[in-house]
Amino acid sequence: RSNAEKFEFQAEVSRLMDILINSLYSNKDIFLRELISNASDALDKIRFLSLTDKETLGEGDNTKLEIQIKLDKEKKILSIRDRGIGMTKEDLIKNLGTIAKSGTSAFVEKMQTGGDLNLIGQFGVGFYSVYLVADYVEVISKHNDDKQYVWESKADGAFAVSEDVWNEPLGRGTEIRLHIREEAGEYLEENKLKELVKKYSEFINFPIYMWSTKESDVEVPADEDESSDEEETTESSSSEEEGDEEEAEKEEDAEKKPKTKKVKETTSEWELLNDVKAVWLRNPKEVTEEEYTKFYHSLAKDFSDEKPLAWSHFTAEGDVEFKAVLFVPPKAPQDLYESYYNTKKSNLKLYVRRVFISDEFDELLPKYLNFLKGLVDSDTLPLNVSREMLQQHSSLKTIKKKLIRKALDMIRKIAEEDPDESNDKDNKEVEDSSDNDEKKGQYTKFWNEFGKSIKLGIVEDAANRNRLAKLLRVESTKSGGKLTSLDQYISRMKPGQKDIFYITGSSKEQLEKSPFLERLTKKNYEVIFFTDPVDEYLMQYLMDYEDKKFQNVSKEGLKLGKDSKDKELKESFKELTKWWKGALASENVDDVKISNRLANSPCVVVTSKYGWSANMERIMQSQTL
Ligand code: ADP
Ligand code: MG
Repeated sequence: RSNAEKFEFQAEVSRLMDILINSLYSNKDIFLRELISNASDALDKIRFLSLTDKETLGEGDNTKLEIQIKLDKEKKILSIRDRGIGMTKEDLIKNLGTIAKSGTSAFVEKMQTGGDLNLIGQFGVGFYSVYLVADYVEVISKHNDDKQYVWESKADGAFAVSEDVWNEPLGRGTEIRLHIREEAGEYLEENKLKELVKKYSEFINFPIYMWSTKESDVEVPADEDESSDEEETTESSSSEEEGDEEEAEKEEDAEKKPKTKKVKETTSEWELLNDVKAVWLRNPKEVTEEEYTKFYHSLAKDFSDEKPLAWSHFTAEGDVEFKAVLFVPPKAPQDLYESYYNTKKSNLKLYVRRVFISDEFDELLPKYLNFLKGLVDSDTLPLNVSREMLQQHSSLKTIKKKLIRKALDMIRKIAEEDPDESNDKDNKEVEDSSDNDEKKGQYTKFWNEFGKSIKLGIVEDAANRNRLAKLLRVESTKSGGKLTSLDQYISRMKPGQKDIFYITGSSKEQLEKSPFLERLTKKNYEVIFFTDPVDEYLMQYLMDYEDKKFQNVSKEGLKLGKDSKDKELKESFKELTKWWKGALASENVDDVKISNRLANSPCVVVTSKYGWSANMERIMQSQTL
């Protein structure tokens, strides 16, 4: 094109495209899902802008917030168009080529080590998946603030952008034209595309239409002559956009019956492919498990085929009304705890009266619940105010509080329904055995993926500390290598035992040999092992549970019940104690005491009640080094 400006793709993007275009990956289907998801995002954006400025939406067809798919079999073009926000010339250059997103290199790396291409959308580079099926792509786009432009590339390291003086004006929005590769001919079949939309894009909240052809036999009166047949056919292929249908006419059977005859009729029309009734607005009783699973996949852009571990779909009523669906993903993302304290990123989508507002609304959930995915739709929040105003709205506090409750309930239920956990006292619900199998081991799975979040919650969320402590799982001297809950610990406590005993260290193996355990184990007391670095912080906040205090067995204050000989012993070793005190007196030793905490070892160094445990010293040291 004469007026084209040429650009090179940013290096990482170029590598990504090379990988995609040479990919032998069999599931090329995903490109359609990515394009539809982009179209839907673009529609969300224009709808959001139109809340505060009605003008942005324009008039006529521009107000139709929909997605259209069309095929041109002859030219081998598949096009997807939306009436979303569109892209300016600058947007086209930046978003589709010159600026690499943070996910680009991460994804390239993943792909080189055999990662799953299916997850491309999660890395923010979904657009480029078009090159799985096309060797040439045109993006025609019209943004309110600019003229119409065409972006085009044959994935040869460069792309071009030119002012569009060839195509029909779009009004507003974007049309992506894929020139389908020879070997990807299946994507020029209507049925294939319909199937894909059903499979992957069922939960898109805008109508998706496809220009589809229908061929059907119709009976027409036979006594009318040829000309009326012609009329019939012309009428039926009603749109100007469809090519001539003379063939259908010729194919018609010569077999003439006296009264009626069969005519092949070809019609084309916009066929709606999805049901736009939002899942969260439906009655939870009517939504199937499969639908929730698919909804989760589309919401989380997680197409790994795994089921979410749990979900909760509810309506909150009262002063603040909202509907919400929360999911516990099957797996934690790799970087969940990597920069925990530096990133603020909630995974909930916020809608106000069915209109998508934002998916970066950190006011909805506390940080420790950032692993949840889901959505909130509120009728109480105002619609036509800025995002900043919304962030300060008083209802958000109530919404947050309720969301936390529901989230913790949902997690508790994973445990309640898990037969592996069933030595819990008041758990009698497990009956159906097929259901049992599926739920078996689910809580351990949850704990292994997200246990750390629960611990961080105990540290951060004083108001829900007890609820969170109920979800805690630990190993102990009596858990036999499995996980146990605090409730289970309490149910095993010895008569007269007042405190919950625990010990901290770097590994269970190391702790099992600790002299601090000698006497406790001998006397058949259970001691919890805390071996995760975060546990030291955890235990600074978790002081008690169900009226039982936590006692670190390596610290001062361990009481195992009075021994009648205590006083006697103290008296007889008085002099020795005094001598030791004198000999050891220093900054590091506060006191020397007669103790009954040991069985075999003669003596042990104990941390004072408010001092750092040896393990904490170790952690702090490793952090300052
Ligand atoms: P993501 O959707 O995760 O941002 P993509 O690679 O799918 O990543 O898309 C890259 C960017 O290109 C989008 O963020 C958006 O700015 C722009 N874009 C893609 N498709 C469209 C579209 N149909 N309308 C408007 N902008 C689009
Ligand atoms: Mg995308």
